[in-house]
Order: sequence, then C-alpha cells, then structure tokens
Amino acid sequence: MYRTWEELYSECKACQKCELCKTRTNVVVGVGNPNADIMFIGEGPGENEDLQGEPFVGRAGKLLDKMLAAVDLDRNENIYIANIVKCRPPQNRDPKPEEQEMCIGWLRSQVKLINPKIIVCLGRIAAAKLIKPDIKITKEHGMWFKKGNFEMMAMLHPAAVLRDPRKKPEAFDDFLKLRDRLEELNKGEV
Ligand code: SF4
Repeated sequence: MYRTWEELYSECKACQKCELCKTRTNVVVGVGNPNADIMFIGEGPGENEDLQGEPFVGRAGKLLDKMLAAVDLDRNENIYIANIVKCRPPQNRDPKPEEQEMCIGWLRSQVKLINPKIIVCLGRIAAAKLIKPDIKITKEHGMWFKKGNFEMMAMLHPAAVLRDPRKKPEAFDDFLKLRDRLEELNKGEV
C-alpha cells in the first residue's frame, strides 16, 4: 500500500506487471481531487485516453462531463476518476481477468488514499469486478450496494449511452440518485 500519491504515481507509471505495458503510450493512473467523496471507476483506457494519459477524454468522456456538470460535479474539483486497468487493452478489447487481477492493487491503493464515501462503477466490467460478478447492468444500474464502508452503484457506461441515445434519461436518472445520496450522507441522514 502506498503512503503518498507521489509514490503511487511514480511506481504505477513504471509498471510492467502485465502484457498491456508493451502496447501502451501512457499509463492512465487517474484524475481528480484526491480528497473526493465520490470515485468513478471504468474498465480501462481507450485510444484517446492512452494518447493523453487521462481517463474518459474522448466522446464518452465529454458525455460523462456533461452529466457530472448537471449535478454540480466536476472531474477536477469534487470527484476522482480511475480505471480497473491503467493501460489500454489493444483494439479496446475487454481487459482480461488476469490483467485486471494484476492491476487491481493500484486501484486498491487509490481507494485507500482517497477513502471516498461513494464508488460508482461505469459499465459492466468495472461493476462485475467491484460490486458482484453476476451483476446485470441493464437491470441493476442505479441501485445501491453496501460494501465495507462504501456505498456503491453501477452506472451505464457513457459509451453505451452514446451507442443508444434512448438510454440517456435512465443514465441521467442515476446521476440524480447519486447527487441525492451524497446529500443524505453529508447531512448524516443514513
Ligand atoms: S495494466 Fe496495470 S498491471 Fe498491467 S502494466 Fe499497466 S499498470 Fe501494470
């Protein structure tokens, strides 16, 4: 476990624990406020993220930023965003279970340093890894799960919402639930 962000970033950026290190441009460690109440976690970097070294920066990232802004959240101010794997899987394939297992230690260290109140999993792969393996994202997104000290929710991946814009209202509804839950937690109502 890492005591400081500096240690974590410098070691993570040099990581060669799995084969994804061979094809990456950048290690995409994470972005945001290290004191955030909410962490968002996706599955892994895509092409734009790999090139820029930041999570969720392509079209899906823009949509995520819009939905965040609608509930007064901002990636640089009051949340932290990371992924299960920090290096891009080639051709944007799903990260393999063994790659996820190799990489998850970095995420655990990030969660430990941030100690958020809420963890949001973006998409099925992150939700299956962190909430429960058999999660049905289409039915169970927007539901709350309690794991240890954390309130957890799965959301539809913004890329899935871009592919099927009819999903936008239900996706946005989850952001409203998130805002309400954070307010409750901050007021000590739970
Ligand atoms: S994906 Fe994770 S475990 Fe694999 S090389 Fe990148 S940082 Fe290391």
